[in-house]
Parts: sequence; C-alpha cells; structure tokens
Amino acid sequence: MKASMSSIPVARPALGEQEAEALRRVIQSGWVTQGPEVAAFESEFAAFVGAAHACAVSNCTTALHLALKAVGVTAGDEVITVSHSFIATANAIRYCDALPVFIDIEADGYNIDPNLIEAAITPRTRAILCVHQLGMPCDLRAIVEIGKRHSIPVVEDAACAIGSEILWDGQWEKIGKPHGDIACFSFHPRKVVTTGDGGMLTTSSPEFDRKFRLWRQHGMSVTDATRHGSKQVIFEDYDELGYNYRMTDLQAAIGREQLRRLPGLVQERRQLAEAYREQLSSIGLSLPTEPRWARSNWQSFCVGLPPGMDQRAVMQMLLDQGISTRRGIMNIHLEKAYGSQDSHRAATRLSRSVSAQERTIILPLFSRMTDVELLRVVEALRQHFAAVMSEDYPLVIS
Ligand SMILES: *Cc1c(COP(=O)(O)O)cnc(C)c1O
Repeated sequence: MKASMSSIPVARPALGEQEAEALRRVIQSGWVTQGPEVAAFESEFAAFVGAAHACAVSNCTTALHLALKAVGVTAGDEVITVSHSFIATANAIRYCDALPVFIDIEADGYNIDPNLIEAAITPRTRAILCVHQLGMPCDLRAIVEIGKRHSIPVVEDAACAIGSEILWDGQWEKIGKPHGDIACFSFHPRKVVTTGDGGMLTTSSPEFDRKFRLWRQHGMSVTDATRHGSKQVIFEDYDELGYNYRMTDLQAAIGREQLRRLPGLVQERRQLAEAYREQLSSIGLSLPTEPRWARSNWQSFCVGLPPGMDQRAVMQMLLDQGISTRRGIMNIHLEKAYGSQDSHRAATRLSRSVSAQERTIILPLFSRMTDVELLRVVEALRQHFAAVMSEDYPLVIS
C-alpha cells in the first residue's frame, strides 16, 4: 500500500457551484416541493431527448412502477426482462403483483438478447422491460419490432442511459425519445447526472403522461400549479389510488444545471472510455464495444477478466493501490428476495448473465478524471496481468 497516493473512486458526481447557486435560488423563492422548477426541468428534459412528454418523479424505481402500471401490467401478468440488472428493474414488476420472466443477455455485451424474447412470450405477457445497461443502448430496433408483432408494449429502463444515442432510420437519436412506449431515467448519484435522487418518465402518449401526473401526486385531480394560480377556491377529488412519487423543486433546480452540462459530461466520458480502450487493448481483458448503431454515455466502463483469473484478487490488488472498482452488474435471480417459486420465472438459461457477474469489474470513470489517474489504473492492471500470466508462461516484460 502506497499511502502517499491519493485514492481513485469508481465514480464521483459532477456537482459544483452552479448547482449550489440553483439551490439557493429555490430556497429563497419559498417554493421547495413540486412546482415551477419541476415543470421547467420537465420541458428542458423533453427537449433534450426529443420526447413529446417528460414527467419527473422521485426516482427511477417509482418511474418504472408507473410505466408498467400505465401500459396495463396488473396482478398475474408476466413481464419479460433480464436478471442481469440492478434489482429495482424486477422489483418494479413485483410492485404490480406481476411476475418477472428472466431471459439471458447477449454473448458479446451486457444487454438483453432480443433473439430470446419471442420464445418467452406467453398469453400472460403484458410488457417487455428492456434495460440500457451501463449506459449502452440495447437493441431497441429488434425489441420494438417484436413488441409490435405481438402487440406487447415496450418499456425502457434507461436509468443509466441519459445522453446515450441510437441510430434510428439513419439519424442519431437520444435514448428516451422514446423508441419503446415509455422510457425511465434515474438521477441517482451513481448515474451521469444526479439530483441526489430523482427520476423521469418520457413518452409520446399524452394519455400516459396524464396518468403519471395523477399517480405521482396521490391521484389528486387538481395540480399544484392550478390550485396555486386560481382566483377561486378549488376542492380536489381523488378518483383512484395514487402515490407520493413527486420530485421536489430543490432536486429539479439541480437537475436543470446538470442537464445544461450533460453534453460536455458525455463527451468527457466518451474520451475517457476511448483512452481506456487504447491503453488496455493489448493486455488480455475483454473490452466493451459499441455496436455500429449505438453511442454510449459510458455511465460505467465494464471489463471482462480472462477465464480463470480471480475477480476478487484483481479488485483487492487495485484497492491496495487506492483504486476503487465494483463487481460487474448483479443477477437478480440469485438474490434471496428472488429465491421463492412465485418471485420470478427463468425462461432461458441465464449462464451468460451469471458468467458476466463473475468475470467483470467496473473501472473508475468520472468527470474530471485525470490522465494520470487513468494511467495509474491501466498500469496496475498491466502489472497484475504480467505477474499472473508469467506464472503460467514465463515471459520477459520490458
Ligand atoms: C440505478 C438503476 C435503477 C434504479 O434507479 P433509482 O433512481 O435509484 O431508483 C433501475 N434500473 C437500473 C438499470 C439502474 O441502474
């Protein structure tokens, strides 16, 4: 352990003075919960991704819940998704008393394998919930076509994918336009833009958008802005069950600043990912690649270790040098919360998902990461690989 070296985190939120100033503005305005800042954030977000409607909520998990409810997922339905994702993906399905039906990921990436979807469809399938894992767009073109063919709605878990792009009819479009029926975003600090916690739903459907706005605010018939602006006394009604899934104006003000900086943040991350790809090209790791039709925001840079290399040992070696990493994405079906028969169904073998969790690690990548920091990560990995490989094949390392 070299105590003199500063440590390198795996991620770091890109928050600064502008966000602090924005908070001051809201605090002094006297309106701190869902209000004008949320409305402004929504229209700016919609414009950024090219969506007709954007509705802000408390986080991406609540966004997923509302999205699934809007497309009609109810008790006893099935939703096709991946196990290889953050647990919130499948939890949102269970909040609807529906059953997550897991299929495996692609051989050459960490996203849902569209070739496995059709065989998993049953008369009870009510939605496909695809994930743009680690910010890398999944094969939406294929997924949306399957959805259309079977009249099954497609919901995108775009928690990690703000600023990512997909080639659509010859044009680069933002994830969240949306290309499925609804897309859901997260503003957790581990994502590319953050509001502390927060989420957003985008859709082309005015009817879905109306429902999101109703449900996020207890099912209340009158909006905050309407009541506040009215010269008459208004009494509200509650015609159906709603939730408190609101975003606050404090969060939205931060989000607006983050959104302004997003193009720069994504460009910076793409440069860091490119630098990793160049520097790590020859040491024997499997590196993430973009399909021809996708541009990732590189929310995470996930590398695969060669078969037989000890994942924990690599992570410990890096940690001993002050470098934080994380294990690759989890597998939901392996958690105790999914241990019972009625918690999920696996419609295919999940062997690629399991192998990805066992063999991948997420390397540090964050705003203002320096070349020196990136090279420290690369050098530590290079030396470890050289040492491990030389145990098997004596090599002269120059
Ligand atoms: C982070 C994440 C979520 C949950 O987002 P929250 O805003 O924390 O609720 C859901 N799905 C995926 C794939 C995620 O990475």
